[in-house]
Amino acid sequence: MAYCAEIIGVGTELLLGNTVNTDARDVSEGLSALGINVYYHTVVGDNPDRLRQAVEIARGRADILITTGGLGPTFDDLTKETLAQCFGKELIYHEEIGTEIRAYFEKRLPGQKMPENNLRQAYLPEGCTVFQNDWGTAPGCAFFAEDKHVLMLPGPPRECREMFNHCAVPYLKGLSDAEILSHNIHIFGMGESAVEDKLRGLMEGLTNPTLAPYAKTGEVMLRLTAKAESGEAAEAQMAPVLDQVRAVLGDVIYGVDTDSLEATVLGLLLDAGKTIAVAESCTGGLLTKRLTDIPGASGAFLGGVIAYANQVKTDLLGVDEALIEQLGAVSDPVARSMAQGVRIRLGTDFGIGITGVAGPGGGTEEKPVGTVYVAMATADQTYVRSLRLGNDRSRIRVMAAHHALDMVRRYLTGLPVEGSGQMR
Ligand code: ATP
Repeated sequence: MAYCAEIIGVGTELLLGNTVNTDARDVSEGLSALGINVYYHTVVGDNPDRLRQAVEIARGRADILITTGGLGPTFDDLTKETLAQCFGKELIYHEEIGTEIRAYFEKRLPGQKMPENNLRQAYLPEGCTVFQNDWGTAPGCAFFAEDKHVLMLPGPPRECREMFNHCAVPYLKGLSDAEILSHNIHIFGMGESAVEDKLRGLMEGLTNPTLAPYAKTGEVMLRLTAKAESGEAAEAQMAPVLDQVRAVLGDVIYGVDTDSLEATVLGLLLDAGKTIAVAESCTGGLLTKRLTDIPGASGAFLGGVIAYANQVKTDLLGVDEALIEQLGAVSDPVARSMAQGVRIRLGTDFGIGITGVAGPGGGTEEKPVGTVYVAMATADQTYVRSLRLGNDRSRIRVMAAHHALDMVRRYLTGLPVEGSGQMR
């Protein structure tokens, strides 16, 4: 039987728009990886009556209720009390949790008296499974009552995420004998609708494993999920489907179960013992940030120049002033020259040059907002992609960085580098 869960976010700050409900996203993603359906997200303020109403509705349409937030020590943290009441449970004081809370405070604020209301967090519904909070003070819990599983997680996103992974996932896995495994297939170079179009027949015919697409900025991820009596059996069910997806989509798949395009590229650079430097104009350091977000980046990434002004392009990268004057800073030859200049000055195997019109101003008829040139220089050759990336400033910058990474990936895996240059 496939379980169905509803996530109830508790917190007035979520309703006011002060806080984005990232807990629901994180928990939903985790549930999807477990093969548990989520049909509703509910958000309710710190108000016991309305929370009770939300619980009554949720229990009528879900097998599993997961709350986030409202587990803390203050008067408005009412999730436990309300949920316990709804399911006819008493709250019981847990001595060992009380001791842990005191120890946490003594360590954090030595010599200070702990406000006694913190001990409210040691009261949990009778007979529950305690979810120990190693990332904060408010423990979570789970119980089964009146045919429903109820799980409560704290609101702070890190605590919610960690406790979901370390406490809720084992609990939820224990509800079924089956093993559920997933593989994430990462795609750059083909839009979501094109991916769906090519795979529709395959996706529609599948029930176990299932294959579902998720779109991110400029990228698509396909999640392949199988449920079987063992991990090996689940892998065996997924293997032929993974082969089919690879056969249909080909080299736009940049990785399976990889963290990101930049992680893939960095791995390829490190494996090949190659180095890279970047010259960024319209991306303003975004590519540098993405590469250096990854631990170990220094093994391949040497540095870069944020060449926003033309003067910097000429002074630090050696771009010919006349080239900029004649063709404009946003042009194929300037991108090439930036890539070559940074490669030579930093003595790397690869040099990247990115120049474009990110908007909203600065576009012309010939070069509208979204016109971007991304160049990749090696010792032998310089490649350029000439792109039109729409009119959303943030997306243009992300996409330009994606393209630069994709060019390096394709080069290092022996694929044509400019092949995807027409892709928008
Ligand atoms: P605490 O022990 O910190 O009081 P709690 O479980 O009571 O934890 P809340 O008091 O509801 O949680 O929220 C704590 C913090 O977590 C707040 O900064 C809040 O904005 C944030 N938060 C709460 N719910 C969510 C959510 N669904 N998504 C993202 N952030 C959230």
